Amino acid sequence: MQSSTLPPQQQKNNGRSSSSKFIFVIGGVMSGLGKGVTTSSTARLLQLAGYKVSCVKIDPYVNYDAGTMNPVAHGEVFVTDDGGECDMDIGNYERFIDTSMTKDHNITTGRIYMDVIAAEREGKYLGQCVQIIPHVTDAIKANLRRIAEKEKLDIMVVECGGTVGDIESLPFLEAFRQMALEVGRQNTLFIHVTLAPVLDVVGEQKTKPTQHSVQELRRIGIQPDIIAVRCKTPLTPDARRKISLFASVEQQNVISCHDAPSIYKVPEVIESQGMLKVVSQGLSLKRSKPKWGDWKKVASSFSNYDGSVRIAVVGKYVTLPDSYVSVYHALSHAGAGIGKKVEIDWIDSEKFENGGEKKIASLKEYQGVLAPGGFGKRGSEGIISAANFARENNIPYLGICFGFQLAIVAFARHVCGMAGANSTELDPHTKNPVVDFMPEQRNVHDMGGTMRLGGHNIAVAPKTLAHRLYGATTIRRRHRHRYEFNQNYLDAVTKAGLVLSAHSDSGRRMEILEIPDHKFYFAVQYHAEFSSRPGKPEQAFDAFVKAAARS
Ligand code: GLN
Repeated sequence: MQSSTLPPQQQKNNGRSSSSKFIFVIGGVMSGLGKGVTTSSTARLLQLAGYKVSCVKIDPYVNYDAGTMNPVAHGEVFVTDDGGECDMDIGNYERFIDTSMTKDHNITTGRIYMDVIAAEREGKYLGQCVQIIPHVTDAIKANLRRIAEKEKLDIMVVECGGTVGDIESLPFLEAFRQMALEVGRQNTLFIHVTLAPVLDVVGEQKTKPTQHSVQELRRIGIQPDIIAVRCKTPLTPDARRKISLFASVEQQNVISCHDAPSIYKVPEVIESQGMLKVVSQGLSLKRSKPKWGDWKKVASSFSNYDGSVRIAVVGKYVTLPDSYVSVYHALSHAGAGIGKKVEIDWIDSEKFENGGEKKIASLKEYQGVLAPGGFGKRGSEGIISAANFARENNIPYLGICFGFQLAIVAFARHVCGMAGANSTELDPHTKNPVVDFMPEQRNVHDMGGTMRLGGHNIAVAPKTLAHRLYGATTIRRRHRHRYEFNQNYLDAVTKAGLVLSAHSDSGRRMEILEIPDHKFYFAVQYHAEFSSRPGKPEQAFDAFVKAAARS
């Protein structure tokens, strides 16, 4: 590698001095194999062995970030504390290694090209012809090294989205290949995640897709060190032997990633086959034993249930449960905490509109109603009805962001008698704009990265339910919104019994609402779901599921 090909600000990061080691997780065969869980579980094991570890997700699409992508097509947009709108895998990493990540941990083709083009415009390439190799690959490597050095990581686990053979991911895989050359083979490890399908009930596990996928990886110069094979039941000795032979890795380096009772069991599944030993050999690490602490107990709590709690999630993007994946996990963390399985029905809020109004009574079958985040008019009346029905029928309710705003609309209409009250997002001409555009959003025209994003400190009022739940007068939670409660209506709603129990930005923004004399009616402007962890459920979710379990 010629470091002279780099703009000067990247050169210092691209020397051979990096003391961090790198694990690259590359998918094969098809998408949706759970590469994110393999990545998170490997990182968790290394963390349990005492290493400072973090993860990076590479998304080879050209978007700058996930913020402008449709949640129903791509899954949830996960928000980091520093305001990044990231791929949902970042959420998986945070839940597994309980570490808050910055937006740099999600690298896209768009971000890399933005860096390269900006440097070119500034004249930093000193007249060179700017090319994918070396300039784009150098920018990729520089980004990875910068994070590893800044965070003083022992090991960085880098997951590349998509599968080997995708045109979009080629520059990234090439950068990984170069990285192994630069930081040394003893400091890099390649894990290839593949699939061993079984075509009928009694059939054998097929290894051919893995063989082809490994060939494809080798064709671009990467020999995998570990093959992590997704399969329904544990990989048979015969399949393991074949994969070892064709992929040219020792049998102990073929790891069976068979179905587990919960994702949090995967670290144990892979460790029972000697994962840490193999990784430690590959990376010349000294410690190769995990200190489990309470991890096994927490992981088991996701499969040892005593009863269940039925929750209706009434939202707009229910056709793809991944679009609310952190909500799902936050509910399951809270359920596991009290030994209850949370049974979720994902209900399309449009079902309660346009002639379906009577169907709202079906919410009586649930012990709790949750209204998650959302944007735009379609389906909003259904959510308003659900928020109202839960209030009138004393059904525990948790509203998140859109679910907070629409609970206010429901309250204004049905308790304060302001017919037609609305959010200006849904009815710009409403007479009673109880939820309105944030003033600083008025002159914003770009869609990407312009909402009120990320972590903000929130002041919680003493002697409120919020204060009892959080046990603190200041909390910090993550946001992603353009609209907010219009405080011109503060007196009116307060007089009618709504308690606004937390605020931020020196009182300019309301963050929590609650209704006393209700089993549990609680809604938050922030996205509480992003702060929940296995064994440490976010407090609003915890209290909601507990209230639901009691009702
Ligand atoms: N659409 C609402 C807003 O922009 C709510 C956003 C959300 O639920 N994330 O304020």
